[in-house]
Amino acid sequence: MPASEARKYKGGCSCGTVELEVSGEPVAMGYCHCESCRKWSASPVNAFTLWKPDAVKVTRGAEHIANYNKTAASDRKWCRKCGGHLMAHHPAMGLTDVYAATIPEFPFQPAVHVNYQEARTRIRDGLPKMKDVPKEMGGSGMTLPE
Ligand SMILES: [Zn+2]
Ligand SMILES: [Zn+2]
Repeated sequence: MPASEARKYKGGCSCGTVELEVSGEPVAMGYCHCESCRKWSASPVNAFTLWKPDAVKVTRGAEHIANYNKTAASDRKWCRKCGGHLMAHHPAMGLTDVYAATIPEFPFQPAVHVNYQEARTRIRDGLPKMKDVPKEMGGSGMTLPE
């Protein structure tokens, strides 16, 4: 399907200064339990949607986006006005995580939990619980009990 026909979903930060749009289908969706996500998001889990970078477009307020790089693996982006989190680009994976909460219209359908070995909040939803991340993302591919 040409990009022009792909379904688009709008999103943005908490104050609305930064607006963005994702188009088409994400590569993966799920929940991350790692300490790094939990601390930065101040949340028990981080709901992620991973996209090819060209499927994600900032449509307004790009000049208000600030970056935070705890490690080289994640280029996290947030709004300077409200502090609201937007997305994180993962250069090694070549994918951009647009936090599910940032794109409320998008039908979030989680398929997996990752970094469950670091979980503080158990979620018994029957989805696979990866110890770290899937093999194709450089992890062990091992799963853990819920
Ligand atoms: Zn904002
Ligand atoms: Zn994480």
